[in-house]
Amino acid sequence: MNAIAITKTKVDYDVIVIGSGIGGLVTATQLAAKGAKVLVLERYLIPGGSAGYFEREGYRFDVGASMIFGFGTEGTTNLLTRALAAVGMKIETIPDPVQIHYHLPDGLELKVHRHYEKFLQELIAIFPHEAKGIRRFYDQCWQVFNCLNAMDLLSLEEPRYLMRVFFQHPFACLGLVKYLPQNAGDIARRYISDPRLLKFIDMECYCWSVMPASHTPMINAGMVFSDRHYGGINYPKGGVGQIAQKLVEGLEKAGGEIQYKARVSKILLENGKAVGVKLANGKEYRAHRIVSNATRWDTFEKLLPPEQMPASEKRWQQRYQKSPSFLSLHLGVKAEVLPPQTECHHIVLEDWEKMETAEGTIFVSIPTLLDPSLAPEGHHIIHTFTPSWLEDWQGLSPQEYEEKKETAAAKLIHRLEAIFPGLAAGLDYQEVGTPRTHRRFLGRDDGTYGPVPSRKLAGLLGMPFNRTAIDGLYCVGDSTFPGQGLNAVAFSGFACGHRVAVDLGL
Ligand SMILES: Cc1cc2nc3c(=O)[nH]c(=O)nc-3n(C[C@H](O)[C@H](O)[C@H](O)COP(=O)(O)OP(=O)(O)OC[C@H]3O[C@@H](n4cnc5c(N)ncnc54)[C@H](O)[C@@H]3O)c2cc1C
Repeated sequence: MNAIAITKTKVDYDVIVIGSGIGGLVTATQLAAKGAKVLVLERYLIPGGSAGYFEREGYRFDVGASMIFGFGTEGTTNLLTRALAAVGMKIETIPDPVQIHYHLPDGLELKVHRHYEKFLQELIAIFPHEAKGIRRFYDQCWQVFNCLNAMDLLSLEEPRYLMRVFFQHPFACLGLVKYLPQNAGDIARRYISDPRLLKFIDMECYCWSVMPASHTPMINAGMVFSDRHYGGINYPKGGVGQIAQKLVEGLEKAGGEIQYKARVSKILLENGKAVGVKLANGKEYRAHRIVSNATRWDTFEKLLPPEQMPASEKRWQQRYQKSPSFLSLHLGVKAEVLPPQTECHHIVLEDWEKMETAEGTIFVSIPTLLDPSLAPEGHHIIHTFTPSWLEDWQGLSPQEYEEKKETAAAKLIHRLEAIFPGLAAGLDYQEVGTPRTHRRFLGRDDGTYGPVPSRKLAGLLGMPFNRTAIDGLYCVGDSTFPGQGLNAVAFSGFACGHRVAVDLGL
């Protein structure tokens, strides 16, 4: 017998996870807690990806996410609480009394209060003729949520789990099956006819799905529009970066490993099966299963040969496209810039026609209203961002790039003066991020926020789960079911960890 044939290739780990976004870390911690030997490889210096942080001159800025779902204490949809608890971790959180303060065209001003009835009363006071429709629409959202919140959220690709859940919660399962192919806009239009109120529902969806209601899956809408009143929005003390830091601490306590500055350049295939990874520095590691937390575009076009892209991925790329990235301003401001009673999160739009255009909708987050320790005394953080396409920032000389950043930042600050008079004069620190920054630091193709349907689809039916067409390779994170957002990618992480564990016989 030939020596090579009998030499068994050394397998270093049970599972390698490429990337330490929240999706990757939840998968890794779930598997480590079940006894798997796990290695996480992260290209950046710290974990978290879009849920990371950076520090400048006494300010601790969240890179992206700051409106955090999933930290509730009840039910089953509190996935961040659960993911941390699975590896013996806990984070102190600060409840946010208002999810969003909307500043919309034609003077449409309102707050989404944590208290459901208070929110409904405020909305009904503006649209009294739609009182019934408003209740019926949001109550349908609760129906979706109550179904989800009745069951353990694990892999929908695992038949034995599906059978168990079905026998335990038959009505909840049938409810979800009914809503899975539906979009929020179709349901809203069933009950509501006022065009201005329908535009408001569009914005309610757009501000997290970056799609109007007609293209936003009802399952996601049900989660967001109900959980904000159930578990509520809760900010992690010490900043959003704490979530990833604590997950890593838990991962290591459970025996898992993480390496930073470890950029995977290639997924290694043997006989069509994923068997390992190669790093940019030439090192190779092998494992029984490979999980990619990079976006699907990065996974199938950069880490694998694009010319061998599986047909299922090609079909997915036709159904889903990259959403824009963001122009982000991380501002340190004097405390007096904020009027009394300012809320933590704001959405600003002056013209409905521009809701979906580049630099149309403005998102604002002021986490220091909840956790003052993130800024020097007497100061606040204002993190504001607005959609922006990578191609608008390409082909510029370094000087042109800097000038374009300055101009875009000044324009955004000028628009925000409408809600924060004196903002420009009260600036203490400013850092501008563009789609190029998002691409570079988050490793996301075109700096995209994530996939969005390229045409109207049947709810969430087209979103892939964690297994891929390549044996041994799984995807996790916002380009898998159920999409963007920290609690959503935590769901994807639970599902991926579950599926891989079953495949490994754990
Ligand atoms: C500006 C902004 C604001 C947001 N606001 C909110 C919010 O308020 N609430 C909310 O819930 N969500 C929000 N989101 C969305 C949320 O942050 C994301 O959906 C979520 O964090 C994505 O997590 P993920 O696990 O899919 O991947 P990512 O966060 O993208 O993490 C992927 C990780 O993989 C690493 N990686 C990639 N390729 C490689 C490679 N080849 N080798 C090694 N490592 C690699 C990356 O460095 C990164 O750390 C926001 C996002 C942005 C950008």
